Amino acid sequence: MLVREMDRQECNEFIARLAFGRLACSRENQPYIVPTYFAAEPDRIYGFATLGQKIEWMRSNPLVCIEADEVKTQNDWASVVVSGRFEEFPDTPEYAEQRRRAQAFLEKRGAWWQTAFGAAQTRSQFDRDIPVVYCIQIHKITGRKASRDPKS
Ligand SMILES: Cc1cc2nc3c(=O)[nH]c(=O)nc-3n(C[C@H](O)[C@H](O)[C@H](O)COP(=O)(O)OP(=O)(O)OC[C@H]3O[C@@H](n4cnc5c(N)ncnc54)[C@H](O)[C@@H]3O)c2cc1C
Repeated sequence: MLVREMDRQECNEFIARLAFGRLACSRENQPYIVPTYFAAEPDRIYGFATLGQKIEWMRSNPLVCIEADEVKTQNDWASVVVSGRFEEFPDTPEYAEQRRRAQAFLEKRGAWWQTAFGAAQTRSQFDRDIPVVYCIQIHKITGRKASRDPKS
């Protein structure tokens, strides 16, 4: 098996196509990771959620990580890791343009709001369905791609 680095453009195209990954945040040295849909453009990743643990934790520590991968076979896979900063787009006139742009990207996936509201059904600790539009400003993005070694 050969493993190579993916360049920035490959990484950007990969996460934009997958639109799904694991979002990791941390609080008081405790990591927390959940699967989530997202929408990506070259410098940022947009997400939609309802208020719960991950939003509370990202508000208290905005440094987060996203991992996305595609595994076809043991010798044919790719994964991308993003480090970035959480930024919330509140429903206020000041953030209207950012929310509009985020929503335009998120809407490319049908029923983009559904999973976030579904997650609210299991909550008791938080108000159940407060919507949150956010982005992750990408600080660093790296990718690795594996393929079969033609010599083996
Ligand atoms: C394919 C897929 C796509 C998803 N897309 C979105 C999305 O776009 N937006 C969105 O908001 N959510 C999405 N989810 C759900 C997401 O993974 C979380 O379950 C949800 O957002 C609630 O997270 P929270 O931190 O607010 O948890 P809370 O409702 O605050 O609950 C916290 C507690 O629930 C546990 N918990 C939370 N989520 C999970 C989980 N997935 N698996 C196991 N335990 C869990 C935590 O360990 C903790 O104990 C998606 C899930 C999947 C599988």
